[in-house]
Amino acid sequence: MKLILLGPPGAGKGTQAQRLVEKHGIVQLSTGDMLRAAVKAGTPVGLKAKDVMARGELVSDDIVVGIIEDRIAEPDCINGFILDGFPRTVAQAEALDAMLTRHGLKLDAVIELEVDEAILIERIETRVAEMTARGEAVRPDDNAAALHKRLEAYRAQTAPVASYYASRGALHAVDGMAPIDQVTKAIAEILDT
Ligand code: ADP
Repeated sequence: MKLILLGPPGAGKGTQAQRLVEKHGIVQLSTGDMLRAAVKAGTPVGLKAKDVMARGELVSDDIVVGIIEDRIAEPDCINGFILDGFPRTVAQAEALDAMLTRHGLKLDAVIELEVDEAILIERIETRVAEMTARGEAVRPDDNAAALHKRLEAYRAQTAPVASYYASRGALHAVDGMAPIDQVTKAIAEILDT
């Protein structure tokens, strides 16, 4: 099964992806996680991405497209994958189409988690407060200024990706404001049909 989860920061993509991984035995490919790992490891990609990410801006399409192309060729992707945080621009969506065609792969669904922006800011603030209380490191882009930028990037660059898939009849919208289990159920119903 090959899926894309779309939705703004804080929409719950990570939580739902985790559940889908367990249920279907597929892997979650989060470009955000992969880039954070590259930053931590100090790789050439990480060095390029570090400051851009901290500001809440998007890393260049070339970098993330390259990362994903390498990753989907790994043996653990054989049962399928969930793309989380990719594609984030229409150019990335076009590059993904080309790469899937090259690898003889086809997407099963694109699922968009729809959420209210005011609630997103609250969710992320809660997440940061809880992590701080537990003594965990907070992401460098989980501050008010960077969060604003991330939402702005989503509106300007990623919302058109939803339209891109909608125009191809591949988009399924789910109410991301519903309780977590209900969101899981709504996604399961889409995948069952
Ligand atoms: P969130 O969805 O919470 O904003 P992510 O973990 O998906 O966070 O991404 C964090 C940051 O990593 C983004 O703000 C951006 O700088 C970079 N990034 C992740 N995925 C992509 C992508 N597909 N294209 C460009 N930049 C990306």
